[in-house]
Amino acid sequence: MTTSATIKRDLRTGRSLWADSAGLGVPIKPLTQALSVDVAVVGAGISGAFMAHELSRDHSVAVLDRRRPLMGSTLASTAMLQWEIDLPLTELAERIGTAKARRAWLRSFDAVQALEKIVTDEGIRCGLARKRSLYLAGDAYGRRALEAETVARAAIGLDSRWLKAADLRDQFGVDRTGAILSTGSLSGDPAQMAAGLLRRAEKNGAKIWSPVEVEEALVDPDGVTLVTDAGVPVRAERVVFCCGYEFPKGVPTPGASVASSWAVASKSRTPCPSWLKDMLVWEASDPYLYMRMGRDGRLIVGGEDEASATAHEDPDKLKRKCRALVEKLETLLPGVEFEADYAWAAAFGESVTGLPQIGPVDPDGRIHAVMGVGGNGITYSVIASQIVAGALRGRPDPDADLYRV
Ligand SMILES: Cc1cc2nc3c(=O)[nH]c(=O)nc-3n(C[C@H](O)[C@H](O)[C@H](O)COP(=O)(O)OP(=O)(O)OC[C@H]3O[C@@H](n4cnc5c(N)ncnc54)[C@H](O)[C@@H]3O)c2cc1C
Repeated sequence: MTTSATIKRDLRTGRSLWADSAGLGVPIKPLTQALSVDVAVVGAGISGAFMAHELSRDHSVAVLDRRRPLMGSTLASTAMLQWEIDLPLTELAERIGTAKARRAWLRSFDAVQALEKIVTDEGIRCGLARKRSLYLAGDAYGRRALEAETVARAAIGLDSRWLKAADLRDQFGVDRTGAILSTGSLSGDPAQMAAGLLRRAEKNGAKIWSPVEVEEALVDPDGVTLVTDAGVPVRAERVVFCCGYEFPKGVPTPGASVASSWAVASKSRTPCPSWLKDMLVWEASDPYLYMRMGRDGRLIVGGEDEASATAHEDPDKLKRKCRALVEKLETLLPGVEFEADYAWAAAFGESVTGLPQIGPVDPDGRIHAVMGVGGNGITYSVIASQIVAGALRGRPDPDADLYRV
């Protein structure tokens, strides 16, 4: 292992790269009077933003957040907007059956294309870029497993092809036993995306109330009363909890758990192989390493996940993890000189199947929740907005069963 990881003395530790993005302004108001709306969305991160954007087309919407918008895990996201689910199709098929696993993978593919359409149609400036992806054989899934995975994907029409070790070395200079090369993914700035969606929702009439903590949700036959720390209630016909990894009190979260994840970004205009500009790279290892370029020539590298909900709060660990990520990167791509500029860490949700939980959590369908969104969290934020909107419009989504809470 090389030890050349360069950590600048003024490294912005604990500060996400996106915290310094332009265009993050979202109009907010303090809650001082009782409200009554069709739908209350709790959480103003990327999930709440997609939800509010979709629902505000035909509902009155209040978005409530205990912090300023975008201050949850959305700000920490590395925003590789992939249709490739963390759990391979072959593995997911073993856990939930082939037919369901195929639906889940195809639905993810459609969601990434839907995300591109929404962002493009709305003219949201968030550096959205089309990307290929390179999934490297690793210690969790090796050459044989990934070859089988390529065949399983091809059988349902997903554009993935197998690269042998020699091809991988020749085309990309990467020394692994093989990789899956796919098309159809994206990347972007998650904070700008969420801010843009919230501003569009606001144009549709939604209001964003912040800071307001939702303490309790009381259901009755006519709707839901949200008890808030503002001392005034919010009355809604339906409530959607989009609280990321801060699971709402009283809402069951079977199978969902919270881990910690780390990320680091290099200085802008870091010299990198040209193929990396349009590629998302990730590996089939545990813990895994992943990387992509940002639009200003920064290399963004993440991984080193740990099964602890609090490890991400440790500043010394942040420096160690940052070094480990850079060293792994330099081993994988010798010749890339990575000078770390930003390093940050955050909580990260996981579920047993890698699929999130989306759906009603009370018998009358008054309260919906979006939980356990993991490595494909932003793709799932789109799916969640589609499923919840379908339920509220009386047009149940045919894939809702895949994500039932
Ligand atoms: C390091 C890291 C890298 C990641 N990389 C990727 C990636 O490459 N691709 C990808 O798709 N996903 C990735 N993810 C996952 C993705 O970022 C998340 O799935 C996504 O940010 C979740 O968004 P959210 O809106 O659901 O949650 P959040 O952004 O956490 O927003 C939840 C909001 O709810 C508010 N809230 C919570 N409880 C209450 C309450 N009781 N009252 C009022 N407000 C409340 C919080 O203040 C917060 O603002 C990554 C995550 C991390 C941490």
